[in-house]
Parts: sequence; structure tokens; C-alpha cells
Amino acid sequence: MNSLIWFRQDLRLADNKAFYQACSDIRSRNTATVVEAKTATVTEANAASTAQLRAAYIVTPKQWLAHDVGAMQIDFIERHVNLLGENLAKLGIELDVLTCDDFDGVDELLLAYIAQHDIKAIYASSELEHNERQRDSRLHALLESKSVSFNLFEQHCAITPGSVTNLSGDMYKVFTPFSKQWRAKAMSESFAPLPVPEVMHGCEQGSQVAYEPVRFELGDSYIERVSSEQWSAGEEAASERLNQFIEGHISQYSAKRDIPAIDGTSSLSPYLALGVLSPRQCIAAVLFYYPDALVNETSVCKTWINELIWREFYRHLLAAFPRLSKNANFNVLGDGIQWRNDADEFAAWCEGRTGYPIVDAAMRQLNQTGWMHNRLRMIVASFLTKHLLVDWRWGERYFRQKLIDGDLAANNGGWQWSAGTGCDAQPYFRVFNPYLQSEKFDPQAIFIKRFVPELNNVAPKLLHKPPSGGGYLGNTHSKSESQAKYNEPRVIDMFADVNVSASA
Ligand code: FAD
Repeated sequence: MNSLIWFRQDLRLADNKAFYQACSDIRSRNTATVVEAKTATVTEANAASTAQLRAAYIVTPKQWLAHDVGAMQIDFIERHVNLLGENLAKLGIELDVLTCDDFDGVDELLLAYIAQHDIKAIYASSELEHNERQRDSRLHALLESKSVSFNLFEQHCAITPGSVTNLSGDMYKVFTPFSKQWRAKAMSESFAPLPVPEVMHGCEQGSQVAYEPVRFELGDSYIERVSSEQWSAGEEAASERLNQFIEGHISQYSAKRDIPAIDGTSSLSPYLALGVLSPRQCIAAVLFYYPDALVNETSVCKTWINELIWREFYRHLLAAFPRLSKNANFNVLGDGIQWRNDADEFAAWCEGRTGYPIVDAAMRQLNQTGWMHNRLRMIVASFLTKHLLVDWRWGERYFRQKLIDGDLAANNGGWQWSAGTGCDAQPYFRVFNPYLQSEKFDPQAIFIKRFVPELNNVAPKLLHKPPSGGGYLGNTHSKSESQAKYNEPRVIDMFADVNVSASA
């Protein structure tokens, strides 16, 4: 009677509740078997203790395509699955990498797998997204009918979704009261991470097994492969980055986190998105260095913890409002917006040739590295939705296709916040002025010039000033009419009957 640990968005061995429980259940089962077989010889007892833990990862290329999972993120997943395979092999556990087109194919694939390997229990992390939840509830019923237990563990948030609520027991719709309640609840939580389970001595898996690296079979779903090599892979790399950040940059985070030209943030999002690192590990690491971080109002870690709480907030929202997984506006008032959706302007935005230096630099950072600084994400998202009046869903989709840290909850939350359709106390009338933003956060135009080198010879102050008569300052950017049109925020058009001023 064997068990399966099914890895999904939890590509790690440390602090993995599902993996930890699977190992501990197998160990107890085998110990019990040995005790029961006490009348038998040692060899017979060992032969009886053959319950095995297998591991699997399921590649679903068409599902990924439907979810716009970026090619760089898929490459990053592949590298992590291979590292996981190697590390599991050291524990004596074999990782099988299985492929089917999409979630619909998972049922048949798993049923064949459990029959082949005599699996009686499956362990996995629960997932919050709608299609994933549908898949799991379907599987639950199917596996039950085969007498296979399906054990799901919530571990994508530091505090379980649904447990941070207002006095009526409802999910908060704005961040600040959520964060206060989250912090209050955190006081009574333990964030001590679970260790990596030990090698299973006494089981058949006590010795190492071989692991051959795999390359995902993506068929024609993803012809393009984009390397993620500029990001180190693995749990060790992630925890090294975490520790270095907390030992060093965290004390300066609040002052430097908005300056895209410097490395002032943790850059942990690609690891958190794949579950290579858990949010509990992040909080535990902060508490290790700063034990009063959650209670001390003046802690240097307060702002960084707040960002982790934003991550939690968007995940709790996704759990409470399944419509967020289905392209719906959070705020129904957004249903009335008449988006202009000009395809040429959208293409200019995607390619970093709008004529707005900070916007172009940011989009080129995304296209070249698969990552974008948070301040810039807010600027380009505001620009796309409130200057160009392009539907936030277009931008959300483009981000997802390019980002190495693509994550439905954070991406959807960030886009809807920026578009004014989401959870924001100041929704439609918040418009980022790209010139004021670059003047404030990239005054010397260091970041702009790094990604828009054709502006190298332009004085920074000119890059933070709208060109007179429209058009663009750069040498290689033409002063076309379409660029000139970009100059005025269009929030007024969007809400023609609302009297608002379009300011930064
Ligand atoms: P740090 O500043 O070091 O923060 C630590 C961690 O907190 C991050 O790794 C991330 O997991 C979380 N976090 C920080 N800010 C936010 C936030 N505003 N919302 C939610 N979580 C946050 N983040 C993603 O992980 N995936 C996305 O697909 C994504 N899309 C976004 C789209 C838009 C339009 C906007 C405005 C923001 C988006 N974010 C997304 C949030 C944020 O920009 C990134 O998490 C952050 O830039 C990652 O850099 P970091 O790891 O250095 O963050």
C-alpha cells in the first residue's frame, strides 16, 4: 500500500506540510508493519515493510497556455522540478514527471498511475485558483470511489484564507483593516518552518535512487523556450537570497524599495510564486533576526512584512471571490467602463515604444528579464488603463506571459488596483503621472537609460518633462501624432459624467 506526494506550486522539500505528512505517515505505517511482523524473521519483516512513497509532478502544457503561464516561468519550473527530483532521489524517493494536455486529462493519468503503483493515499498542497479547485474537487470524488485518500494541505499563505475576517465573518475588501487583523492573528500563529524529512531508514527507500533530468514535453503548445538562467534555481538559492536580504537590505527597504535603479527589494517573487520558498519561511527568517518584528510598530521590517501581507490579501481575496479567477472586475462599477482598446497603442506599450521614457524602460525590463520593479508595475499599469484606456485584462495577460513570477492572485490584484476596478480606497481618480513618477523615483534617469539606451545623451530633467506640442524627446523615437495623443490622461473620458481631476 503505497503513497504519492504530488508536487504542484510547492516545489520545495523544506517547510512543505504535504510532503512532511506523507513521509511521516509512510514511516509510521512501515514501523507498524515491522512491529506486527515481530514473530517473523528480520528478512521477512523487512520484506513486509515495503510501503513506498513515490513523488510526481504533472506537466499540463495546454492548461499553461490557457492560463498564459510565461515561457520563462515554465523554464524556471522545469529547472526546479529537476532539482526536486535530484533531492528526492537522495532521500530514496523517485520523482515521476508525467504529462497530459490539461487538467481534464489529469483524472485519467492519475487513475492509471495509482493503479500501476498501488497508491492508496495522495498528498498535495491545495490551490486557490478556480480551475485548480474544480480539478481537485472532481478528483476528490473520483479517488474516494477508488478508496484512495486525497489529502490537501493549505500552505500558500502564512495565515489560512478565510480566517482573517471582519466582525461579520466576511473577507475584508480593503487592505488596511485586513492587514491590522492579519497582524493581530499572526501574534498567535507559529511560523516555525517544518524541516526536510529525514532519509527513510528501514524502508526500501532508505538508499538513494537514480534521477535522470527531464525536459518537459510541451508539444507545439510552447514552441518558444525562454531561458531563466539569469535567476539561480533551488531552495538553497532562494533561502540564501532571503537571508542575505534580511541580514542586509531589509533595514533600508522602506527608503529604497521605490527606486528601480537600485537593488532595494528582495527579488524573491519568482521563488514565492512557484512555492520554492514559503511565506512562512519568509516570516520565520524575519523573526529570527528581528524577534519583535510583528509587534514593534517601528520595526525596520514593518514595510517588508506589509508587502508580504499584500500578497496574503490578494490570495485571501481570490479564495473569497472566485470570480477573480474568471476575468471579472472586482468592483462591478468597472463593468461600465468603455475601454478604447486600440491595438496599435497596446503593441507600442508591450514593446516599450510609447514615447514615455519611464514606461518604455519598464516594459523593456519586463521583456528582457522577465521581471519588473513594483513601482514600475504600478506606473505601466496605470498608463495602460488610464492613459491609453486599454482594458486591464490585456495588460494582466501580457504580464503573465512575460513574468517569471507570474501569479494569478498578485497579478490580478495589482492590475485591478491600478485600473480602479479592484480593492483600492482611491480607485478611478488615482492616475500616475509618468513624468512626475520618473522625476521622483529615477531623478538621474539611471534606470531609464539602462533600458532605453537611445536616450543616453538626453539630460535627465528633459526626460521628466512632457515634450511641448506632444511627441518624444528621444533620438530614435519619432514625433508621431499617435505619440502626441498620449500626453493627457484619459480618466476624464472614461468617467465622462464624473467630475474628477486627473492628477499624479
Ligand atoms: P519585495 O518588495 O521584496 O516584496 C516581498 C514579496 O512580497 C514579493 O516577493 C511578493 O511575493 C510580495 N509582494 C510585494 N508586493 C506585492 C504586491 N503589491 N502585491 C502582492 N504581493 C506583493 N507579484 C507577483 O509575485 N506576481 C505577479 O504576477 C505580480 N503582478 C503584478 C502586477 C501589477 C500590475 C502590480 C502593480 C504588482 C504585481 N505584483 C506581482 C506585485 C509586486 O510588484 C511584486 O511582487 C514585486 O515587485 C516582486 O519583487 P520583490 O520580490 O523584490 O518584492
